[in-house]
Amino acid sequence: MATIIDGKAIAAKIRGEIAAETARLKEKGVTPGLAVVLVGEDPASKVYVSMKEKACADVGIFSDEYKLPVETGEAELLALIEKLNADDKIDGILVQLPLPKQINTDKILEAISPAKDADGFHPYNVGRLVIGKPTFQPCTPYGVMVMLKEAGVDLSGKEVVVVGRSNIVGKPVAFMCLQQNATVTLCHSKTRDLAGKVAQADVVIAAVGVPEMIKGSWIKEGAVVIDVGVNRVGEKKLVGDVEYAAAAERASAITPVPGGVGPMTITMLLYNTLESAKRRVK
Ligand code: NDP
Repeated sequence: MATIIDGKAIAAKIRGEIAAETARLKEKGVTPGLAVVLVGEDPASKVYVSMKEKACADVGIFSDEYKLPVETGEAELLALIEKLNADDKIDGILVQLPLPKQINTDKILEAISPAKDADGFHPYNVGRLVIGKPTFQPCTPYGVMVMLKEAGVDLSGKEVVVVGRSNIVGKPVAFMCLQQNATVTLCHSKTRDLAGKVAQADVVIAAVGVPEMIKGSWIKEGAVVIDVGVNRVGEKKLVGDVEYAAAAERASAITPVPGGVGPMTITMLLYNTLESAKRRVK
């Protein structure tokens, strides 16, 4: 039976460290600051934004919220980002996605100063990630890497299979694993024999968005399983992309859903904001 990689516990430990370091920074006269921009009324986005603000407050990071109406134009949002880029109190800028359709998301993400790109989505930072240079690492994949480290998984020489190739999870996590000397297979909806690919993996990272599509029987005995997926089934139940109970029978370690990768994402946002503030001190 697999060990459970407890995202909640790992996140709590790291948030404790972030709080302590934030307090030390404040003694030097610097308060880390995160600007959170929300355009429109998307209910899920509203929940995420309020969770991010609460998390900031809990560790002593200053957060400044900008709630803009759904009809906000691109020029107006660009002007706000320009202002935040120049604001000394702000170390990280987060624009909650998705944006309303009159706004070009790429244009907005590229307008954020790469030095304040706490989400790690700016092409400059993505490029640095790919060539293995220090950069803002996108929060969810960064959280996955921290969980693997905390679980004592050494990736060097391991076969890692990532399922899902999105720009926010699959692709960056694949490059992060490559950087740690894993041999990485990046799978997607056109991959042939997904079951066969997964069966080869020492580490499976699932970021698909399809409830329990990765079957427990595909998992190699002793593999480590990281499930990024969060899928609502029915009224209240959340499940991952991996068939959890059956996978846990074969894996050596596995992340639950909820309580796995989820709590790590906001934690790494706090971490990125703190690191950015530390650069301001320097
Ligand atoms: P996307 O929808 O952007 O990407 C999904 C990927 O899965 C695509 O690359 C797609 O392939 C691939 N895919 C879809 N169906 C199949 C299939 N049948 N077989 C193989 N591959 C398939 O999703 P995200 O990366 O944004 O999110 C993935 C999951 O992670 C979601 O459940 C999401 O809710 C969750 N998530 C959780 C976060 C957290 O904090 N815990 C943060 C972000 C996401 P193709 O490219 O060919 O279409």
